[in-house]
This record gives sequence, structure tokens and C-alpha cells, in this order.
Amino acid sequence: MKGDNAMTRKTTHAGLLIVDVQNDFCAGGALAVPGSEQVVSTLSRYIEEAVANDVRIYASRDWHPAVTRHFKTHGGEWPAHCVQGTDGARFRAALHLSSDAVVITKGEHPDSPGYSAFEGHTPEGQSFLADLRERGIEHLYIAGLATDYCVKHSVLDALSAGLKVTVLGDAIAGVDATPGDSARAMVEIREKGAHVVAGAGSLTNAATSLAPERFVGLRPPS
Ligand SMILES: [Zn+2]
Repeated sequence: MKGDNAMTRKTTHAGLLIVDVQNDFCAGGALAVPGSEQVVSTLSRYIEEAVANDVRIYASRDWHPAVTRHFKTHGGEWPAHCVQGTDGARFRAALHLSSDAVVITKGEHPDSPGYSAFEGHTPEGQSFLADLRERGIEHLYIAGLATDYCVKHSVLDALSAGLKVTVLGDAIAGVDATPGDSARAMVEIREKGAHVVAGAGSLTNAATSLAPERFVGLRPPS
């Protein structure tokens, strides 16, 4: 029937952005984020669900040159991490990333930290945003590492681009170099319009907690 609720639901698509779940940010890595292992196991479930729902999966990765102003050795803030081609830069194997996940590479410029996935590009060299636009993706689920840096900057850029953003609160973890950084990041992204779902456990649960006009890209609950 025309005009019913289902018909008025937008037929735009959703994407899942997994931010920087790489060995160097996980246990044993150069810049291990506390709680990263829990994030990996939770994200593995979200990935399965995304595949089942035709939600396009993007996995961003830090991909730094050995010499960059991002590293302490060259005046930056961080120990060397995710150097191009090293084991530390690989995605965490336990993430079980699907083979059709689109890798977004960022952080290659020696003068820029490359915190946001929106500074990155696809394997074909297209910008992340251009790929989203081309596929009609207007709603991004975002999770990964680390809450107070790459997740925060990716969320803020997504919002600036006019995308709807749902942050999967049970699949993020922060560095907290200064205690409270992650909590402050969460306040900031909420203020800017991100919807943060704590402990949704599934994309469908996360989606159904949204107002109907924001419910896009996943099948309605039956
Ligand atoms: Zn980095």
C-alpha cells in the first residue's frame, strides 16, 4: 500500500566503518589500546551481521611512512606504529575481516597524522567520501580504535559531510593519554549529532533505536 510507513522509509544504504583495528593498536602492539581485544571480538559479530545485511564494510588503516612528524622520533606525539608493510600495520587476524571489505588507507603523508578515515582512499585511489557517495551510502556505523583519535576524527568528518552516524559504543576503545580524553570525545561527537548506541550488540538493534526517518539501510525488524 502506498504511503505506509515501510514505503516512506528511505532506500538509502548503510556502511560499516571499522577504524584502524591493526596489530599495533592491539595487545602486544607498539601503541596497544586498552580494551582492544574486546573490541575485536565484538566487531567480528558486527561484521557477520553486516555481510548478511548487504551493509558495505570499510576498514581503515593507519599506513605511515617510517619517517613522519607523527612519530616522537621526528617531533610528534606517538611511538612509531603502523609503518607501511610491517606486521604492526596488518589488520588484526582475529577480526575476521570479510574479503570484500574495502580498505581505506590513510596517514601516508609525512606531515599529517591522518587521524580521520576521510583523509584516506580506496585501493583504486578514490577518496573514502567519493566511494560512499557513489554507492548512495548516507548512514555510517562507526567503531574501532581509538575513540579519542581516529574514531573521533572520522565521526566528526562524517557528520561534516552530512552523513548520519551511529557509533557502536560496545566496539570502541580509547587511548586516554590524558585521563578523560575518551569521555570528552564522546561528549563532543554527541553534541555534533552522532548517535551513540551503547551495547546494542547488533546493527539491527542499533538501527531500531533510531527514529524512523534515520532508519536506513537495514531491513526493518520483522
Ligand atoms: Zn598513526
